[in-house]
Amino acid sequence: MAQPFDYAPAPESRSVVDIRSSYGLFIGGEFVDPVAGRSFKTLNPATEEVLAEVSDADDADVDRAVGAARRAFTRVWSRMSGRDRSKYLFRIARVLQERGRELAVLESIDNGKPIKESRDVDVPLAAQWFFYYAGWADKLDYALPGRPGPPRPLGVAGQVIPWNFPLLMLAWKIAPALACGNTVVLKPAETTPLTALLFAEICQQADLPAGVVNIVTGAGATGRALVAHEDVDKVAFTGSTDVGKSIARAVAGTRKKVTLELGGKGANIVFDDAPLDEAVEGVVNGIFFNQGQVCCAGSRLLVQESVADDVLDRLKHRMATLRVGDPLDKNTDVGAINSAEQLTRIRELSASGDSEGAERWSPPCDLPAHGFWFPPTIFTGVSQAHRIAREEIFGPVLSVLTFRTPGEAVDKANNTPFGLSVGVWSDKGSRIMGAAGRLRAGVVWANTFNRFDPGSPFGGYQESGYGREGGRHGLAAYLR
Ligand code: NAD
Repeated sequence: MAQPFDYAPAPESRSVVDIRSSYGLFIGGEFVDPVAGRSFKTLNPATEEVLAEVSDADDADVDRAVGAARRAFTRVWSRMSGRDRSKYLFRIARVLQERGRELAVLESIDNGKPIKESRDVDVPLAAQWFFYYAGWADKLDYALPGRPGPPRPLGVAGQVIPWNFPLLMLAWKIAPALACGNTVVLKPAETTPLTALLFAEICQQADLPAGVVNIVTGAGATGRALVAHEDVDKVAFTGSTDVGKSIARAVAGTRKKVTLELGGKGANIVFDDAPLDEAVEGVVNGIFFNQGQVCCAGSRLLVQESVADDVLDRLKHRMATLRVGDPLDKNTDVGAINSAEQLTRIRELSASGDSEGAERWSPPCDLPAHGFWFPPTIFTGVSQAHRIAREEIFGPVLSVLTFRTPGEAVDKANNTPFGLSVGVWSDKGSRIMGAAGRLRAGVVWANTFNRFDPGSPFGGYQESGYGREGGRHGLAAYLR
């Protein structure tokens, strides 16, 4: 569709970040070389440029990191008053804000997400998470009424996070753990380690006692070693359902506490009385935010049959205005897919939509010649049996289904092995409440989507995992 005018390029400067050619592991408050000296490369997914060599931690390195975390727990952090712990968390939160631009640019370079998202969502929310849990650190006695005895930390937390919100997932993991008096060893995803390593520098800047936060980089084997380490008291994992299941098996029968935040196949339900332009904005946000690489993405649109044509027209019109391209351009709406592997998965699942008879549509858009790209895409004529209606695509691909009655909408939304998020769009509060009460999802958003607040618990049912992050519930996961 012809645009009324074109946007001039508005690139954010890279000069604010200083990417080192190689990074060690952050253990015991300092950067150290890995024992075996192995490393891997992290790429800019928008250009395929190599950004840095990053250490590949093995069992011996994980053991060192857990040892450092244990010493810091026993000698310093668990003995410190909540008031003093909160001062460190407030300090980290303020440094995250002060260095926000640097963090946002680095996140967009390493992950491929548009700068307007890293700048306006990831980094501010990460700071908010630290502010919020800083506020709880000296009030734990009042956080969870009815629990016997004083709140006691668990010990050393082993935390493994994915690549879609690298800094934000780090904040979700580290802030509540530290507020409760635990120490941590965190493993970022292998394709997005750089903001976690910058966070390590921020811990140094905030004078956080050595060993309270340790960052070990590496791939699945490093995560496995961390989860399996016998001196880890708590495992917190965010990632795919398959790996989550293998972690649940690995810790079964041990004393370790576990929280699993896994995949999703969220639905956006649009009723015929919904404000349709707002609903279309919500649908676009639900599936194209972060290129759809969001666990709670609204990857299924359930639209009431009587307004389906109208909604689809408006949706296509809106999609034609999305700007796909350079993640560092402030006008960009849809950035790069995080990795070649993820792009392959999106292509493969989309091809199954074609072969199973759904109809694919994307607005005309020029994709850059290098890097990993996929255009915003919708599939119509989707049935519940199609793979694209059942499996998590984790990309900018929306499956459109229709319904006639509220009951059918709820049944279709619930017809998934997952249970993380649903959005309901309607003018009537009674209709929203009626549906919300019957939807099996950890989060139900009403006339909005992808709203996150540190005070609000987040988590899933069924194959979307168990345990909650955020709010007071998020503290319970880190206390005895
Ligand atoms: P992934 O499961 O492949 O990897 C996640 C992390 O686990 C990475 O750091 C990886 O190195 C590590 N890992 C891999 N194998 C491991 C093992 N055997 N033991 C321990 N650690 C291991 O997932 P991904 O592709 O990085 O992330 C995408 C997935 O994450 C999607 O399914 C998405 O829905 C999910 N996710 C969920 C939430 C949530 O809160 N529910 C949030 C973000 C992402």
